Amino acid sequence: MTYIYTYAEIHAHFETIPSSLTLKQMAPILLYNNFIITPVSGYLLAPYFSGLINLPDSRLIVIKELALSLLLSGLLFTVAHLLLHTKIGMKNIHYVHHQLKVVDGLGAFYAHPIEHLFGNLLPVYISLMLFATNLVTYVLFIIIAISNTVVAHTEFENKIGGKHNIHHKVGSYNYGFMPYIIDRLIGTYRN
Ligand SMILES: [Zn+2]
Ligand SMILES: [Zn+2]
Repeated sequence: MTYIYTYAEIHAHFETIPSSLTLKQMAPILLYNNFIITPVSGYLLAPYFSGLINLPDSRLIVIKELALSLLLSGLLFTVAHLLLHTKIGMKNIHYVHHQLKVVDGLGAFYAHPIEHLFGNLLPVYISLMLFATNLVTYVLFIIIAISNTVVAHTEFENKIGGKHNIHHKVGSYNYGFMPYIIDRLIGTYRN
């Protein structure tokens, strides 16, 4: 994984990064991502979310669609995150999210808008477009996805086995999210 930009390299280039951010410092990006990027992208892609108004034929279908959506979104998120850790990705985009050395629930949405759109939202959108055929899957998957990313940015994640805080401290481990399937497969999981 030598092409990956590590935490030490991040700081060699961004020595002025503050150790933690206040809500006031985070607010402009949080507001822009959550009130412009997310609703506008969701609105523009709404015609492609087929099945959103259907009810499921059975619970089994919902479980199957949730499992497939979680697997695919986890894969896409991890690939996007690895690309963001290349030198170009880190210098221009991902350094914003890594200003957070200490995890913070709101920090889940503190990222460069390009990262928020392509790294956070797109894996969810693509998974829903491909697998979700009913309203219950959409609602449950969005609840799970948002809860997962917020919890991943709190110390509570440690208590339930998650390790995204290590990614913020060390940089070159735990690129995915719970249960870190891709990281375990490619050897970048650290407990
Ligand atoms: Zn993070
Ligand atoms: Zn990262």
